[in-house]
Amino acid sequence: MERVNPATGEALESMESDGETGIEDALATSEEAFESWRDVPLGEREELLANAADVLRENSEEYAEVMTEEMGKPIAAARSEVEKCAWVCEYYAEHASEHLQDERIGTEPGVDSFVSYEPLGPILAVMPWNFPFWQVFRFAAPHLTSGNVGLLKHASNVPGCAEAIEEVFHEAGYPDGVFQTLLVGSDAVDDIIEDDRLKAVTLTGSEPAGRAVAETAGAQIKKTVLELGGSDPFVVLDDADVEAAAATGARARTINSGQSCIAAKRFIVVEDVYDEFVEAFVEEMNALTVGDPRDDVDLGPQAREDLLADLHDQVERSVEAGATVELGGEPLDRDGFFYPPTVLTDVPRDAAVATEEVFGPVAPIFEVAGEAEAIALTNDTDLGLGGSVWTEGRERGKRVAREIESGAVFVNELTKSDPRLPFGGIGDSGYGRELGEMGIHEFVNRKTVWVQ
Ligand code: NDP
Repeated sequence: MERVNPATGEALESMESDGETGIEDALATSEEAFESWRDVPLGEREELLANAADVLRENSEEYAEVMTEEMGKPIAAARSEVEKCAWVCEYYAEHASEHLQDERIGTEPGVDSFVSYEPLGPILAVMPWNFPFWQVFRFAAPHLTSGNVGLLKHASNVPGCAEAIEEVFHEAGYPDGVFQTLLVGSDAVDDIIEDDRLKAVTLTGSEPAGRAVAETAGAQIKKTVLELGGSDPFVVLDDADVEAAAATGARARTINSGQSCIAAKRFIVVEDVYDEFVEAFVEEMNALTVGDPRDDVDLGPQAREDLLADLHDQVERSVEAGATVELGGEPLDRDGFFYPPTVLTDVPRDAAVATEEVFGPVAPIFEVAGEAEAIALTNDTDLGLGGSVWTEGRERGKRVAREIESGAVFVNELTKSDPRLPFGGIGDSGYGRELGEMGIHEFVNRKTVWVQ
């Protein structure tokens, strides 16, 4: 598998992919591992997960460096990502027993009726490169602990991360085959899903990839969880703390160099505070540093050359359609795939940056007359992952949050994921939930038991 350092554009050492035999071996190993893993007491599975948290922390620097090298994440953010993975392991190490205990439901006198949560078997995780550790641990921590076994098909540009993650589980003491990495391209996915030994699949990535996986899994009647893109609104109402909104908004747009599903992607600002917000926001975006991700910078490169080209194409098409560039707007003239913080105003509502997922540090700002128009524009998308609303009125914030059609809304905060809270979308952003109690219940047989 070819790898390129996005900060330099130079090739890294390529890695050998798994051929058909590798896939067959992995599926056979998975099936075998499941038969014993499902019977390992939950308490022991929790202990192993706590070990995984320790392994992550012990080797944090090494894992952070692999991420930075393969996909260009600034090193400090890469370290934080490793820490967050340790957190999700600890969360489920502490809470899995509680989430998976039998749920008694009273029915008739003398009857013991309850729901038990039982594992399904080998689960395929098709994962993206943007949070190459976090997305995988978000899958693995709950679903291995509930007794399933995992097969990872990671994005083709981060095979080093994929191998490092397999090593975490190995070092933590997991039995062989409970978590395996398959170094294969997306063309191998259909056959894996169609294999009888594979029981379910989860995908985080783009809408076309989600549709393809869901179609194949649907034909096999296999459960899927899809976490696809977002075009999250960042709504600034007339009574917002504009300074705070601008500062958090700049972070919300540029987190992971703009390559996050829950990044703020459409800034929707009420006219009373529009000028003040634009001025403060441009200042915040302009103050961000871009550079070598091994240094202390806010933004690194975009992860791949084709993604940089797609991003710039979206900006160019939007400018041709009438948008004004307030800041940035051209790839940086240096080696690697760098795009600067970019702010666009006067954006037509059918422009590319308004209607497509924009995976980079590009912020379109839309001016609206008031709250009603803000909500209407917010919901004028088929995507519905997250959203952020800014208002000094907490009750108003809650009311507006309920009117936003998405899987999550944060009031006076940026949208973020948290092991304790369910995470996922509606509409073209996908379905199913990860994290929290709902997350661990996605890949289990919720079995009804009636004892007369
Ligand atoms: P993809 O959706 O193509 O990649 C994500 C994962 O899906 C990778 O493992 C990929 O494998 C796999 N995949 C791709 N196509 C298929 C398929 N037909 N069947 C099975 N698996 C498939 O994302 P890209 O890396 O190409 O990024 C393109 C755009 O997708 C971004 O610009 C962004 O808009 C969006 N995206 C959104 C993410 C999010 O978190 N919401 C994450 C990543 C991307 P392989 O790498 O081998 O192709």
